[in-house]
Amino acid sequence: MFFDKIQAAPADPILGLGEAFKAENRPEKVNLGIGIYKNAQGATPIPRAVKVAETRLLAEENSKNYLSIDGVAAYNAATQILLFGNNHEIIANKRAKTAQSLGGTGALRIAAEFIKRQTNAQTVWISNPTWPNHNAIFKAVGMEIRDYRYYDKNTHDLDWDGLIADLSQAKQGDVVLLHGCCHNPTGIDPTPEQWDTLAKMSAEKGWLPLFDFAYQGFANGLEEDAYGLRAFLKSNPELLISSSYSKNFGLYNERVGAFTLVAQNEEIANRAFSQVKTIIRTLYSNPASHGAATVAMILQDNDLKEDWTKELAEMRGRIKEMRQKFVETLKACGATQDFDFIVKQNGMFSFSGLSPEQVDKLRDEFAIYAVRSGRINVAGITEDNIQYLCESIVKVL
Ligand code: PMP
Repeated sequence: MFFDKIQAAPADPILGLGEAFKAENRPEKVNLGIGIYKNAQGATPIPRAVKVAETRLLAEENSKNYLSIDGVAAYNAATQILLFGNNHEIIANKRAKTAQSLGGTGALRIAAEFIKRQTNAQTVWISNPTWPNHNAIFKAVGMEIRDYRYYDKNTHDLDWDGLIADLSQAKQGDVVLLHGCCHNPTGIDPTPEQWDTLAKMSAEKGWLPLFDFAYQGFANGLEEDAYGLRAFLKSNPELLISSSYSKNFGLYNERVGAFTLVAQNEEIANRAFSQVKTIIRTLYSNPASHGAATVAMILQDNDLKEDWTKELAEMRGRIKEMRQKFVETLKACGATQDFDFIVKQNGMFSFSGLSPEQVDKLRDEFAIYAVRSGRINVAGITEDNIQYLCESIVKVL
């Protein structure tokens, strides 16, 4: 027998929560777990531009022939413009190569395989805390993982001194994984000055930076959110980027992401990218078309792009508004602690400061679901549930 001795794997801490929420019968239930955007009605909508593009695609599509290994070319080109900005020197000099991937997760896995097989890097530095899959993906390819301090529990802010102290130990040739914006799970991003410092440090020390960019447009805007990445591009000739369009295009289940490699020049980029294509060929051969074709159509059409940008701003605005209301309602419900830090965080997530025991109590007694680290999805808060949510939180504090 081959299978009878296999040990059961633990449930994924975040996806498992979704399953538990589905099975929850209490009608007052509130889901602040998995990171998906929700509108004021608590629904996860398909952006208007996506619907229009999909309808057009369906009408125009005349073949289901395979894509190339690296996917939809127009999509890859549009991805580079979102990342670097229009007319960037990297695009003009063809120093970057992009491959469409199966979501941000797929891009990270390609990055991990590429680093492991094609570079001398042995160690990857990952923020503590981080999205749990970061550790799992690099462990899966057999890399050594070191973590760097990120979050100061007392100030509810970036632990800048701890971060610098830990990353000072990162050696030349080490990979440093950075969250492009909207750090998951803390919602805390470096300031522009801190990004500049990190970029300089990276160039001086000779790290290979890997940017995970899963929430572009959710902090302050598409261009604003690329500040950190673009600061690094100024001084670091080589860099890797994982993009995800799951959140900003609402294309979660279409699995739309991209892996981008920036090299010193076009010749090196092409050579390195040929190895990336070999990796993809043995993983899944070539990607699916629909989601990427949808994104490409939107980004190439001025009207659709404008409408998408507008809707993204609406999503961002709603989250910011809910942060404010959440803090106000907690106060109104009698919370004596200061929760003002929640307003300053970026993106969907907030590290609320709730302990694992308090999170358990919220679930058991009030049918409110959050990640045990205290991470809550602010987009899960609506006008309908905010009062109940805040009253319940105050009861477990
Ligand atoms: N990186 C981070 C930081 C994320 O939060 C997520 C999604 N939760 C991803 C990558 C993966 O995104 P995708 O769903 O596109 O694979």
